[in-house]
Amino acid sequence: MAEQAQELTVSDEVAIQINNMNKWYGSFHVLRDIDLTVYRGERIVIAGPSGSGKSTLIRCINALEEHQKGSITVDGTLLSSDLKNIDRIRSEVGMVFQHFNLFPHLTILENCTLAPIWVRKTPKKEAEDIAMHFLTKVKIPDQANKYPGQLSGGQQQRVAIARSLCMRPRIMLFDEPTSALDPEMIKEVLDTMVELAEEGMTMLCVTHEMGFARQVANRVIFMDAGQIVEQNEPEEFFNNPQNERTKLFLSQIL
Ligand code: ADP
Ligand code: MG
Repeated sequence: MAEQAQELTVSDEVAIQINNMNKWYGSFHVLRDIDLTVYRGERIVIAGPSGSGKSTLIRCINALEEHQKGSITVDGTLLSSDLKNIDRIRSEVGMVFQHFNLFPHLTILENCTLAPIWVRKTPKKEAEDIAMHFLTKVKIPDQANKYPGQLSGGQQQRVAIARSLCMRPRIMLFDEPTSALDPEMIKEVLDTMVELAEEGMTMLCVTHEMGFARQVANRVIFMDAGQIVEQNEPEEFFNNPQNERTKLFLSQIL
């Protein structure tokens, strides 16, 4: 499976282009001079110590956070304050968070059909068919009529992934999707992510799961203090880190 994932094609087409991007929270300079080109089909793992700006970076990509300097272009659309552009980008980009953010008062099926029906104007029956397709894909079609609170953490996170997929994104962003899960549930979520990668989804994943990085990523990016300080293919990244801060980080987690 690892080999299969590694062999996936990365196209010449640019999915995300970030140039000299900077962001401040008030006077705190949280992201510094970020340059990043993500090609279609890439599976990028973003690693780095807590507080290094990983979440902020991926939240900037779908405008959950505003950047103040430089540019972010997603699928050819420049992210600006123009709401049309923000909508267009959000419709291309799915996001899965550490906390699953499901609506507790809606069933699993309703969680998955809400945005397609109300945002995409997909007819209800069709939205339900699509939702069942993706719930089957994440291996929980039998949970469709339950409420989030009745599911395990791993199942809820797989619903969150299915819900994202129902919007047919071309890019998926993951922010520590397994960090809130008990160890025995981590694998089922990672397996779902591996499958997505094998199907060619462009993915940016903030994760501490270095096994996943080795197996699936074609590139690992290391962030520290708001900067990308090193990036490389996993083999080189893990076996031959160049930056002192990367070496220190790897010595602490491996
Ligand atoms: P990471 O995901 O790598 O742990 P974050 O992107 O969450 O890092 O945070 C980077 C830095 O920005 C941290 O110092 C954090 O405290 C700070 N930060 C994050 N969100 C906010 C916010 N909404 N307002 C002010 N500071 C923030
Ligand atoms: Mg974070």
